[in-house]
Amino acid sequence: MTAPAPLSRARIFAASLVLPLSAPPIRDGALLVRDGRIAAVGPLPEVERDNPDAEVRYFPRHTIIPGAVNTHAHLGFRRGDAPRGGSFSGWVRELVSRLPEKEAWTPEAARGSAREAVESGTTFITDSSPFGECLPQLVESGLAGIVFAEFFPFLFDTPGEAVDAIENAVFALREGLPPRVLVEMSVHAPYTVDPESSRLAATRTRERGDRLAIHLSESPEEIEFVREGTGGLESIFEAFGMRADWGGVGVSPVRYAGSVGLLGPATISAHLATGVSGEDMEILVRTGIAAAHCPRSNEYLGCGVSPVPEMLERGMRVGMGTDGLWSSPSMNLFEETLFAVKLHGLDGETGLKLATLYGAQALGVERETGSLESGKWADLAVVEVAPGEAGESPEMQVLEAAASGGVAATVVSGELLYDRLAEGAG
Ligand SMILES: [Zn+2]
Repeated sequence: MTAPAPLSRARIFAASLVLPLSAPPIRDGALLVRDGRIAAVGPLPEVERDNPDAEVRYFPRHTIIPGAVNTHAHLGFRRGDAPRGGSFSGWVRELVSRLPEKEAWTPEAARGSAREAVESGTTFITDSSPFGECLPQLVESGLAGIVFAEFFPFLFDTPGEAVDAIENAVFALREGLPPRVLVEMSVHAPYTVDPESSRLAATRTRERGDRLAIHLSESPEEIEFVREGTGGLESIFEAFGMRADWGGVGVSPVRYAGSVGLLGPATISAHLATGVSGEDMEILVRTGIAAAHCPRSNEYLGCGVSPVPEMLERGMRVGMGTDGLWSSPSMNLFEETLFAVKLHGLDGETGLKLATLYGAQALGVERETGSLESGKWADLAVVEVAPGEAGESPEMQVLEAAASGGVAATVVSGELLYDRLAEGAG
């Protein structure tokens, strides 16, 4: 007879208010965590009574919410020396000119970006980086997440070689990953990846049931490139041997992306910020693609405003993304979301869901994270605010607090990755 496996010690996280988001708020609420997952959610006295052996961490005058799910970020940019904004093509041009010197500090930047995300309540992050170069720092951070490995076909002789190379890189990166980190492929953008490489990459990822990330309909220059083949993006990577001659197809970026097979339920598209027409919206809804909304980056780069309220109304999956620190002021996803809430006139509950549950749905990880429900991973943020019964919606108060540095603790898979109160006490 074999002895039963020892049960890992259960732990209770409790606070003045718990907002599960998939269920009504709970005053003096608690979460029971076992083996990294949520085993029960309810009022503290009940959860404590049923689990007398569990260690309790109570946060008075705080609110526990699901951790933020960042659906589009680039960890490898650093704070303080962003290329000038205002024009997308000008920004890309400066960025590309600085790629050679950037190599030296990319790992440090990725470490800093990930840490900033953790300390502002993020529990799941999506990085897009060339050939998945920021994977080590994402793993090191303890965050759950996905690294989308970007590839640039102009570095190869043929589309077939380019796609083989990125596939092999993705397969190699998947070896020995922690259980909650995934590696997938990204087709960077219509102006960097030619149609044949795009089509091949899309076909192969679809056949395997993999996810795919793209940047789409981000800037006026991208629209001009795809429609007319002009506008300054076609020669931007010239120093690296690229001259894009496949633009000028006379249609919108969304319609073009659909024509090369990039759109589908497993695809998440960053931005969709500029020139999304009624016809484009039909295509987006029909194909079931998800959107990563990065409004602060869009504003910095003069890229317009994504029609997010219409997307939500029409049932599209939309999550929030900070983008990277070269186009965005912070890695705080709640701050990004509060900006979107004000921009689009959304309510607090929609805002908090955009930052968490909707992001998880956009990435197809909603069975694992995004709300506080039994069976999901214990991914949560503890926010220094305790909304009363009256006044402004509790969700809006919590979002505002989390957006302005109010996150006191961050828990991923039941582990405290950040604990300001303990750090302060020590
Ligand atoms: Zn991006």
